[in-house]
Amino acid sequence: MSRLYRLTLFSLAFVGLGFISYSCHRDIIALPSTDQSIAPSNAPSFGDSTESVTTEPLEDILINELPDDDYFHQQMRFWVDNFDYVPSTIPQFFQCQIQRNQITPPQWADLMQKTNWLKTHHDYKFDLADTYLLLHSELNQLAQPRDEIIDQIAHHLAPIPHTYRPASYPGAADDYCEDFVGRSDLFSYTDLRRIKLILSALTRPTTVNLLRQLLLEDMEDRASEVGGLCFLDNQEVRFQTYAPGLRGADNMYVESHQMLRDASLCISRWHCHADREKSFRLAGPGLDDLKFAKYYGTSLVIITYINARMMNIDFCTIQGEVVDLGNY
Ligand SMILES: [Zn+2]
Repeated sequence: MSRLYRLTLFSLAFVGLGFISYSCHRDIIALPSTDQSIAPSNAPSFGDSTESVTTEPLEDILINELPDDDYFHQQMRFWVDNFDYVPSTIPQFFQCQIQRNQITPPQWADLMQKTNWLKTHHDYKFDLADTYLLLHSELNQLAQPRDEIIDQIAHHLAPIPHTYRPASYPGAADDYCEDFVGRSDLFSYTDLRRIKLILSALTRPTTVNLLRQLLLEDMEDRASEVGGLCFLDNQEVRFQTYAPGLRGADNMYVESHQMLRDASLCISRWHCHADREKSFRLAGPGLDDLKFAKYYGTSLVIITYINARMMNIDFCTIQGEVVDLGNY
């Protein structure tokens, strides 16, 4: 049993797997990050200090207490053995479970084949959020060289005007330029494919008109933001709206149970930021959105009202990297 596997099982058990908050979109529960949980226990501390920090092997004790037929044990084993993937938060574990229930045997075979192909050709590491995208991509589409996609995106974005969201405060997680050029190395191969698909959708007047309409609806609705999920229809991104699970404030969007389930197999989540007063100051994800993306293991498309004739679109990766996709 690998150390990564045991440690993650331990952190999952530690936070209590029996509970998941289906509807509390904004309440981000602070869990140890994956990076922390997989750090070797004898890893040196930061800086030049020669001191090393060690811990009692509590995970060994815990794993020995779990029977081999334990449900979580089996779930983890499936993902580790087939995809070299370890869920590290409760939402990711939930997503594992939904995908196990919904994906058919031929789809698993297809997914494994594409994942292995990408690993070999694009130095790819599987992520649960990619399952839907991979199942809906042809192998020849996944063969497009990474540099070629980067060039296409850069050329597409160059002539489009942009609106950058001001940082929450100096040094904050959102205190950086949302440019694509110069930061393209930060995006995984599947992120690049998502960006390309969304940019392609934004070339279609029907999509742009729909998003403008959704922003106006959000502006009128003082009890919730408007949001939903992106799916693919014949390689074209479709923005599907989901009614909020709970209503209560203008600047919140609470996902319904149905949306949370469906989000396990989609291209990305999306929601609107529509406020005439704040306008461009909301252009892109805020700190709460970045935390949400990371904890739920999801990418986000943020649609922002700039003025009566202009909206701004941002894409945010699971890691919280934001790229401004331009004004429309
Ligand atoms: Zn938001």
